[in-house]
Amino acid sequence: MGGYVQGGLSLDVVSLLYELSRKEREKHIRKPEVFWVTDLVRCPLKRDYELRFPELVESNVFTPTFILGELIHKGLEALLKEVMPEEVEVEVEKEQEVMLPNGSKVFLRGRADVIVKVGGEYLGIEIKTSRSDVRIPQEHHVDQSRIYNWLFNLKASILLYVTPDRVTQYVVDGRATLEEVVERILSSKYPRYEWECRYCAYSVLCPYKVVLRQT
Ligand code: SF4
Repeated sequence: MGGYVQGGLSLDVVSLLYELSRKEREKHIRKPEVFWVTDLVRCPLKRDYELRFPELVESNVFTPTFILGELIHKGLEALLKEVMPEEVEVEVEKEQEVMLPNGSKVFLRGRADVIVKVGGEYLGIEIKTSRSDVRIPQEHHVDQSRIYNWLFNLKASILLYVTPDRVTQYVVDGRATLEEVVERILSSKYPRYEWECRYCAYSVLCPYKVVLRQT
């Protein structure tokens, strides 16, 4: 079945969602000198593979899970903007130059879902959607929030989880340091978390894949 056509008007909502998804991916085009905050809280090899084999993940541009997550993000961001139009900024990007010990220069780039001004201070809100509420808040999400607190100079971040079983929030007031950021950029711990390989698009070619025994 194609788009809805009536009286010469045509409407194809699925194509609109596909475009939304494609544009989101385009915002994260890889550049060798740029590290995203999300690169610092996952297996460092994934970034290398994305630079070397970009087509392997391009086929994932239209997955229902990704689209559902995007819609929840857009809905919550719009809702917060409606409730606090003066105080709320959504999808805020910042880039920070980082000098590495060997003298080379890279850029750390982050995109906070929401930044709210409350009583002269800034708070971040990170929206996480998940199929389950097991083991939340997850370690890599807390680390991501700590790095955002450092990058955007936030007093704290709220990690907001939207799952089928629970909608809840956690306050993360810890803050990363420049030393930690450099250490994460240079990390060669493959994978960063054991569970990552199970969900990794590059596990089909990666010699470092960790195969966990099924329980
Ligand atoms: S398979 Fe594992 S070690 Fe290899 S890139 Fe993926 S997450 Fe990293």
